[in-house]
Amino acid sequence: MDLALHIDGEWITDRDTLPVINPATEEVVAHLPLATPADLDRAVAAAARASHTWRGTPIADRTRILLKAADLLVSRADRVARAMTLEQGKPLAEARGEVLRVAGALRWDAEDARRAYGRIIPSAADTVLSVRHEPVGPVAAFTPWNFPAGSPMRKLAGALSAGCSIVIKASEETPGTAVEIVRCFAEAGLPAGAVNLVFGDPASVSRQLIAAPQIRMVAFTGSIPVGKLLAGQAGNRMKPCLMELGGHAPVIVCADADPVQAARKAAAAKFANAGQVCTSPSRFLVHESLWAPFLAEFTAAAERVVVGNGLATGTTMGPLANARRLEAMTELVDDAVEHGAKLVLGGERLDRPGYFFPPTVLTDVPEHARVMREEPFGPIAPIVAFTDLDDALRIANSLPYGLAAYGFTRSSKTAEKLITGFEAGILSINHCGGSVHEAPSGGVKQSGWGREGGPEGVEAYLITKRVSHLLAD
Ligand code: NAD
Repeated sequence: MDLALHIDGEWITDRDTLPVINPATEEVVAHLPLATPADLDRAVAAAARASHTWRGTPIADRTRILLKAADLLVSRADRVARAMTLEQGKPLAEARGEVLRVAGALRWDAEDARRAYGRIIPSAADTVLSVRHEPVGPVAAFTPWNFPAGSPMRKLAGALSAGCSIVIKASEETPGTAVEIVRCFAEAGLPAGAVNLVFGDPASVSRQLIAAPQIRMVAFTGSIPVGKLLAGQAGNRMKPCLMELGGHAPVIVCADADPVQAARKAAAAKFANAGQVCTSPSRFLVHESLWAPFLAEFTAAAERVVVGNGLATGTTMGPLANARRLEAMTELVDDAVEHGAKLVLGGERLDRPGYFFPPTVLTDVPEHARVMREEPFGPIAPIVAFTDLDDALRIANSLPYGLAAYGFTRSSKTAEKLITGFEAGILSINHCGGSVHEAPSGGVKQSGWGREGGPEGVEAYLITKRVSHLLAD
């Protein structure tokens, strides 16, 4: 893995470094150069300069360059996926799927930016009243380790398609994927400084970048506490924010649902990326009449999961991405059991090198146990029974988060009750599918502000300018 900073078109390696750990072996796989404060100043200055060049580039040329970057990424999918598995742990097939998906997301945004239409509004005879959309300007973006391609690309694709330049700090734990992606943009012909990739101490880097007057917008994916911190820093300077934060997605399985199908779909979604997904189903509320067959099928599906090194053939779930997650899983399980929960499956880290934690199923979990209130962000499934749908919805909506929610029912009337009743930004009924390029994703309540994907994903990086032009002569 060749790691480097990318600032003003230049690749920089001769800096102090941080080791990058393979979570499947706990071995050092690379050394990541860290940006100095002077590097960050240079990245901001470059982004400010390139902002003018890039927004002034004809849209057809911008689209062509971005589509070329997507083509390059697809042609390198195997290499990028391997880097991702080495640094993050997910199975190779999942990593490859993520790379191909983000190339698709980039294509979608690049094409969509061609439709950033303004409008002409009927007005007085001697006046042309119009509304135009323009790039907001240089963006500072911060992305986490769970989707090493997905999170950075959402921001790169949205910002660059809108005509903005960007300084992005990807995760220090999964930098190799971001480096590969930025290489594709640079080689596709993006002007120097339009994309700058930096790494460092997250708190210092974000403080310096957000404070820089040239930075006009802040985009972050990560935990709610960090999101609040960064939104506060941006708010003090009146900079708009895009915040994709955590959730704790409820799954309600209604009395008329097919418990076997619901369990299979929910388990597949639960253990994808070892549960380290902000929209991962994480609180399972099952009607008491279906609880036993749902639990049996869900547990059987969990037992079929093959935990191992993501590079090994046959692995369907890799390790957790870092040691912090392993500790968090153990604490959540211990707390649930202390509060009276029954451990049906898993519950303890695997006795081997690597941050492996098995699929874990808990039942009889009281509402006040931590795992019912805090996003596990790992392969833990608390499954509880309910008798009354209104009570299930009350539990689903009882947390200060609202990102994703899932419902299973055969009744369109009940489905509509769930759709209007769930307090969440992303709903799936009768399946637990992931995000798609053509539709927006994002949360309500403390799960964030703004949307990524769909037309909203590019609009987020545009400002609206009202122009009233009184015609001369
Ligand atoms: P964390 O809050 O320490 O970090 C989350 C991410 O934010 C990391 O990528 C980190 O490098 C970055 N970060 C931390 N402090 C920052 C700062 N001051 N400025 C800029 N970036 C900063 O948590 P963690 O231990 O990495 O993950 C734990 C929790 O984070 C999970 O339980 C989950 O709730 C949440 N998380 C959410 C997402 C998501 O997709 N929404 C992704 C990763 C983690």
